[in-house]
Amino acid sequence: MSSASASSTDWTPSTWKSKHVAQGVEYPDQDKLSKVLSKLSTLPPLVTPSEIERLRFQLGQVQRNEAFLLHAGDCAESFDACTNENISAKIGLILSFSLILIWGARLPIVRVGRIAGQYAKPRSSKTEKVGDQEVLSFRGDNVNGYSSPLFFLPLESSFSPLPIRLDIADRRPDPERLLRAYFHSATTLNHVRGLLTSGFASLHQPRDWSLSHVRSPSLKNEFESIVEDLTDALDFSRTIGQDAGASFEHGGARSTVGEVDFYTSHEGLMLDYEQALTRKCPVPKTVSSVPNQQGYYNTSAHFLWIGDRTRQIDGGHVEYFRGIRNPIGIKVGPSMKNDELVKLLDIVNPDKISGKITLISRYGAGKVENYLPDHIKAVKASGHPVVWVCDPMHGNTLTSSTGLKTRHFHAIINELTSCIRIHGECGSRLGGVSLEFTGELNDEGFSVTECLGGSMELSEEQLGLRYQSFCDPRLNFEQSLDVAFLISNHYKN
Ligand code: PEP
Ligand code: MN
Repeated sequence: MSSASASSTDWTPSTWKSKHVAQGVEYPDQDKLSKVLSKLSTLPPLVTPSEIERLRFQLGQVQRNEAFLLHAGDCAESFDACTNENISAKIGLILSFSLILIWGARLPIVRVGRIAGQYAKPRSSKTEKVGDQEVLSFRGDNVNGYSSPLFFLPLESSFSPLPIRLDIADRRPDPERLLRAYFHSATTLNHVRGLLTSGFASLHQPRDWSLSHVRSPSLKNEFESIVEDLTDALDFSRTIGQDAGASFEHGGARSTVGEVDFYTSHEGLMLDYEQALTRKCPVPKTVSSVPNQQGYYNTSAHFLWIGDRTRQIDGGHVEYFRGIRNPIGIKVGPSMKNDELVKLLDIVNPDKISGKITLISRYGAGKVENYLPDHIKAVKASGHPVVWVCDPMHGNTLTSSTGLKTRHFHAIINELTSCIRIHGECGSRLGGVSLEFTGELNDEGFSVTECLGGSMELSEEQLGLRYQSFCDPRLNFEQSLDVAFLISNHYKN
């Protein structure tokens, strides 16, 4: 495949169709698919070129060690979870996490949520077993129906408090779901924008970000003391007349703790959908010196990433991604060869634009040592500017003795601390983290129980208590703050 620049004429939003598309969905009703796609292509953009360019600029700052990236949210969103409570809890946790990081790292935090469009899921097999039936795998709410809240549990599991409910017809891919995904994304984004422009992110509100339920006194005290430190700092700057709306200016990027920048992201898996939301727009004058320059923007999210299962250099996903101006992520796992990684960078970023590429490594705690150093060296030798981010979740998934998909807090921390150390040893720097976490609480105010360990020492026996993920296991509120303090203390010391 050619490594032509994105601006070259051999790329259009549909050239991916001539390539093999991994994880493709077979729609039984093609007419309906066409109608849906043509409707989607006329609907308004969800995000704007200037927001997208601003994120790319800020990721350039991350790459130059002037900021730190927090990429986090659910493994997958669901239409049912699109509620005020869930969205507020997620934003609250992202804000709490980033406040802890600002305090320790003394750097602006670039916040990118896995939110407002993270519906599609890659699956290792086309079918899966539910009870004693072999059915089409659930591919995410924008493709087919899940039907059963705990479908991956064996029927006989003593931990399944909910009956397996499965409507087989619901597993048929339905194009209408792409439209529902668009409207759920729009609703979610509207609520996020509303929250962030109405004082929810103000430093005077952190206690409203749902810390009240945190039962560990030391975790709570640590967080309260950071809030007090930062409030003091703000009062001081207000006194000396440098308040500027409670915002810290840093290296040209706005890093506000009063009203914050926040960006959306999802895995760019469903290329039909991504194509329909790709629009040719003027490149904002602030970033282009070329008169009347036009560019293709994916207007469904600020940031999109290519998953570990769809990053083949001659595949449809890489072809699509090489043509858009959005900053993009690429998952890098143990199966990535050194020269393959460099070839991939040559294809998606031939002009070596700063802030364009974020490499999200996800090897597993036991493998990071074997792969990361050589990947860092290969990228360095190629001269490609990249942001390196550690995803300590996806290489550390296991099945508990009770049959639940889980992750151990120790393994997550292990991979993360190894990453920080290895980057240092290789003359590189970890620029951010990519996490699956949730601030969701149940009706009694308890957090979910999906990952083992952490300061709350969640045991295998407790996993089934409030296991709510219908996809990968997420860190709960307390476990997430544990991770935030770990990173923060690392950069502080
Ligand atoms: C994910 O981020 O949810 C995911 C599926 O990751 P990966 O492609 O790295 O397996
Ligand atoms: Mn996941």
